[in-house]
Order: sequence, then C-alpha cells, then structure tokens
Amino acid sequence: MEKAKNDKITIAIDGYASTGKSTVAKRLAKELKYIYVDTGAMYRAVTYFALQNDLINKNYFKEKELIERLPEIDLTFHFNQITETNDIYLNAANVEKEIRSLEVSHYVSPVSAIAEVREYLVKLQREMGKNKGVVMDGRDIGSVVFPDAELKIFFTAEAKVRAERRLLELQEKGEKVDFDSIYQNVLDRDRIDSSRKESPLIKTEDAFEIDVTCINKEEQYQKVWELAQNILIAKTKTRK
Ligand code: C5P
Repeated sequence: MEKAKNDKITIAIDGYASTGKSTVAKRLAKELKYIYVDTGAMYRAVTYFALQNDLINKNYFKEKELIERLPEIDLTFHFNQITETNDIYLNAANVEKEIRSLEVSHYVSPVSAIAEVREYLVKLQREMGKNKGVVMDGRDIGSVVFPDAELKIFFTAEAKVRAERRLLELQEKGEKVDFDSIYQNVLDRDRIDSSRKESPLIKTEDAFEIDVTCINKEEQYQKVWELAQNILIAKTKTRK
C-alpha cells in the first residue's frame, strides 16, 4: 500500500514548573528527529523584553504598552552545535542564558497571563508545528495550542522536589540562588499559571498524567518514549 505522506505526530508535553518537561521533550525530539519547541522560552523572552524596556518591575506593569509593542518582538530558534539544542533569539540576539534567570522567572507568570501575549505566541507556535513532527512543551500545548495532538503528557511532582531539582540546575549553571526563593517561585508560578483566566494550566482528559516525584530522569523519559512508540507503531499498522 502507498506510504502515507506524513507519518509524523504531534507531541504535547505540559505540566507544572520544573517537572523536567524540556529535558524529556528535547531528548524525544532528538531521537525521533522531530522539531523541539520550548514555549516557556518564548514567554520568558517576552518577559525579558518587558524588563529590558522598563515595562515591568516590582512597582508597576505597563501591560498596555507591552501589548502595543508585541510586534517589535521577533522570536526565532537556532540550533546550537555545542549544546545540541535550540537557543532562543530575541530580535536576533541569543537570550537563552538571560531568560533563565530568577528575575525572569519572577515576572514570567504575570506576563503570560495576558491574553494578547498568549495570542501572539500561540500563533507562532501553531506555525512552527503545522507540519507535525514536533515535540512542544509548555502549559497549554495539549489544551489550546494543539488540542488534536496524538500524544499528550502531563507531568506533576511535589513542589519541594521540583524546587530542589531547579536549584541544582541553576547552581550547575553558576547562578547564586537559594532554595527558599526557588521554592517560593515554583509555588507562585503554579498558582498564577493554574488560576489565570486565559489558557490556565490544566490536564486534559486525554493526557497521560505522570507523577515524577519518585522516579529518576531516565525512568521519566522511558515512560514517555514507550507511549510515543505505541502510538507510532499503531499508526504504522493502520496504514498497512
Ligand atoms: O516552561 P517554563 O517553566 O520555562 O515556563 C515559564 C513560564 O511561562 C511558566 O511559569 C508560565 O507562566 C509560562 N508559560 C505559559 N504557557 C506555556 C509555556 C510557559 O504560560 N505554554
């Protein structure tokens, strides 16, 4: 029988902050030779733009001005040969390192709660995944960006465990951070992301929920890999 034109699927990986979404998504995309899109990086880059342009700080948030200036924000991903993953560029500047700071983490959830920001980024995300063969991670990929994704994963884990993992990650990158600030940030982001009006973080009924509190990174990856394989094998069989 004639081979289907496009065997590739869309994989949506959502979940709470610091549950290892991007580690799994990156590896899965590499092994399947799919495109990997870190949508958190996109929200972080918009937040970084807002900070750079004095649109947000602890005293005010110029929401209206940020919305008006969204067309000035050009976001692209480029492959980094050394890290073997995509770095995000904001108006042609690599901001991969800058967007991971605790300062950006602090302001990213209020920025992500704005409907116009989401609309702007969701449009780009849909464009990036329009030909399938994509692994996208975030908070609303399975619920809003690609509700028809063939595989949807939803990661959860106890907040303390997540904060410990995040602390290690940031320390490895040389950032001076303390556990309490990270733990608080994880709790704050979970609360704002889950309770916002626009595209709140939710598990859709058709998503596989995986609690990663008591499993290691390899086990976490293997669970997702198996789910992906099952779908891809079933897809090949129905084609025969
Ligand atoms: O994935 P990461 O933790 O880097 O995401 C940073 C923040 O970006 C989240 O806490 C959330 O506020 C926002 N985000 C979102 N929707 C997505 C991805 C991220 O609102 N699809």
